[in-house]
Amino acid sequence: AWAVFESLYTPGELLGQGGFGSVCAGVRNADGKQVAIKFVGKEVNEDFITIPGETESLPLEVALMQMVSKPNRHENVLELYEWFEMPDCYILILERPSPCTDLCHFQEDHNGWLSEPLAQHIMRQVVQAASHCSDCGVLHRDIKAENILINTDTLQLKLIDFGCGDLLQDTPFRYYAGTRAYFPPEWLCEGEYFGIPATVWSLGVLLFSLVCGYLPFQCEGDIIERNIHFPEGLSEGCRDLILWCLARHPSSRPTFEEILSHKWFEEPQKNIE
Ligand code: ADP
Ligand code: MG
Ligand code: MG
Repeated sequence: AWAVFESLYTPGELLGQGGFGSVCAGVRNADGKQVAIKFVGKEVNEDFITIPGETESLPLEVALMQMVSKPNRHENVLELYEWFEMPDCYILILERPSPCTDLCHFQEDHNGWLSEPLAQHIMRQVVQAASHCSDCGVLHRDIKAENILINTDTLQLKLIDFGCGDLLQDTPFRYYAGTRAYFPPEWLCEGEYFGIPATVWSLGVLLFSLVCGYLPFQCEGDIIERNIHFPEGLSEGCRDLILWCLARHPSSRPTFEEILSHKWFEEPQKNIE
C-alpha cells in the first residue's frame, strides 16, 4: 500500500499537528500539484459511517468530507481529493491553499486580536461554511480557530478537520465531541446534545476570541454561569451578536441566516487590515 502512495505523492515539510494526526505539505508526482497530506491513526479513527443513500461504509472523516463536497462544493470548505487506507492509518489528500496559515497563527501574527472589519470578513465565511455543511447533512462539531485555514493573500477561509463531526440528525446526539472550551452549557448541565445550536454557540466563542484575543470561558463553571466579560472598545453590534450566539437556551440562539443578517455585518468595513 505504501508503495502505491509513494509512487503518486511526495510528502514534504510538516504543516501542522492536531490532536489526532499530522499534516504535511506534499506534491502530486504526476503534475506537481501542491497538496496537503493528512495522516490519521486508525486507533483514534474507528468510527465508520454510511453516507445516506450509499451502501459502502467509510471512515467518518472521509465520509463527512465527501458529503460536503459532492455533489456541490463550497469555496469555504476544504476539498478532499482522494484517500488511501494503510495497515495502521488513513491518508487524506487535501487541498492546500497557498499562502495559508490557520486562524490561530493568523491571530498571533495580528498581535492576538483582530479588528472588527477583519473579524466580520472571517465570520461571514465561517458561518457560510457551517451553513453549507448543514445543508449537506453534516455537522462539523469542532469549529475553532485551529480548524480554519486562511489564505493570507486573499483572506479566503477554508473549514478543515471533520474528524469530530457527525451526520446531522433530527434527534439529539448519542455523545458529544469537540473541544471543551467551545462546549455549550446544555451539554454540561442537561446532557442534551443538540446539533446546530451547539454549532452556533461555538461560533459565539470563536467570534469572542477573534475580537478579544482570548477565549471567553476559562473553565466549565464559567460556561454554566455564562460568565462573559467584554473588554473595553467592542462595538455594541459585536457584543449583541456574541451574546445572542451564547444564549443559555439552545432554542434562543440565532440560525445561520439570522447571524448573517445581523446588523453587525452591515457596519461599515472601513479598514480590513
Ligand atoms: P487534527 O485532526 O489532528 O486536529 P487538522 O486537520 O486540524 O488535524 O490539522 C492540524 C493542523 O495542520 C491545522 O490546525 C493546520 O495548522 C494544519 N493544516 C491542516 N490541513 C491543512 C491544509 N490543507 N493546508 C495547510 N495546513 C493544514
Ligand atoms: Mg484540528
Ligand atoms: Mg481532527
